[in-house]
Amino acid sequence: MEITKENRKWLDGMNLSHPIVIAGPCSAETEEQVLKTAHLLKDTDTNVFRAGIWKPRTRPGGFEGVGEKGLPWLQKVKQETGMLITTEVGNTDHVEKALKHGIDILWIGARTTVNPFVVQEIADALKGVDIPVLVKNPVNPDLPLWLGAVERFQAAGISQLGVIHRGFSTYNSLHYRNKPKWHIAIELKKEFPDLPLILDPSHICGRRDTIFDVSQTGLDLNYDGLMIETHIDPDNAWSDAKQQITPARLVEITQELIIRQKNSTKEEFQRKLNMYRKELDLLDSNLIDLLKDRMSISEEIGRLKHKENVAILQSGRWSEILESMIQAGEEKGLNKEFVEEIFKAIHVESINIQHNVK
Ligand code: PEP
Ligand code: MN
Repeated sequence: MEITKENRKWLDGMNLSHPIVIAGPCSAETEEQVLKTAHLLKDTDTNVFRAGIWKPRTRPGGFEGVGEKGLPWLQKVKQETGMLITTEVGNTDHVEKALKHGIDILWIGARTTVNPFVVQEIADALKGVDIPVLVKNPVNPDLPLWLGAVERFQAAGISQLGVIHRGFSTYNSLHYRNKPKWHIAIELKKEFPDLPLILDPSHICGRRDTIFDVSQTGLDLNYDGLMIETHIDPDNAWSDAKQQITPARLVEITQELIIRQKNSTKEEFQRKLNMYRKELDLLDSNLIDLLKDRMSISEEIGRLKHKENVAILQSGRWSEILESMIQAGEEKGLNKEFVEEIFKAIHVESINIQHNVK
């Protein structure tokens, strides 16, 4: 895939003095809710108004969107506020209806990106149409699948593209609704620096109080913009009530966020940065040595167990290690989930090594 400046045309055309802001409710519910929210967003940093018309709910029975009748409400938003409008399309019927109603930007939802058949059908339906398409990451942490969806649109002739990082499904996360797994987006940014990357902190957080911090992390990582779910009355929203914020809160957030410069040429800054980086390189190589030592001991233990014909997995011992490491980490100010993930990975590798000893 070759991403060129041309693919960013939709962003550059906005003449932005700040990262792009896409805001609006998770779902369009009523004409009044849509228009009231939009008018409160009109004089904020919001560039694009979002609202889901067709809602892919994980389980049936939830609110599945108002459907086509909500599209004229979005057109009214555009007429009355001048903001661009965007909605999610999940099949070719949605595409046809969205185009008929003058939607400016389309986005592909996380549950659609996972399915190459559907992505291809949508891409084919867009042949010959000059509309920006933003592809959310798939629900599973699979970078090639995410890029593959972008490539399908590119191959269909869609020249204006972007991606939205909304985090990855997890079944037991205390802190996040969808774990960010930042390294996947960083990997993408490294490979395709000109592919606009937007952060969706709403679906990552699943709650209101952490949206600011996650947004700041995105800006610190040079994301091109934010998509934040915003509702006139978040507590009574028909979908994703816990994570939506009011337009007033959105304004506070955008005012408080620090926009980083891409780089600095100041000598003092460069000197300090180089020093810290050297220190990190050293610590990282120590980490590798420590891991090697730890795995060598696992191998010895594996041999011992093999000789005595003892089972490899001693789950009681493992729970003890995990708990005590989490506690030790917390005492030192390390995030619980971070420590847990590292030790789980170490444990899996340890078991693999023990399996392989003869
Ligand atoms: C949404 O943006 O409301 C939505 C359904 O998002 P996702 O596809 O990221 O779950
Ligand atoms: Mn939502």
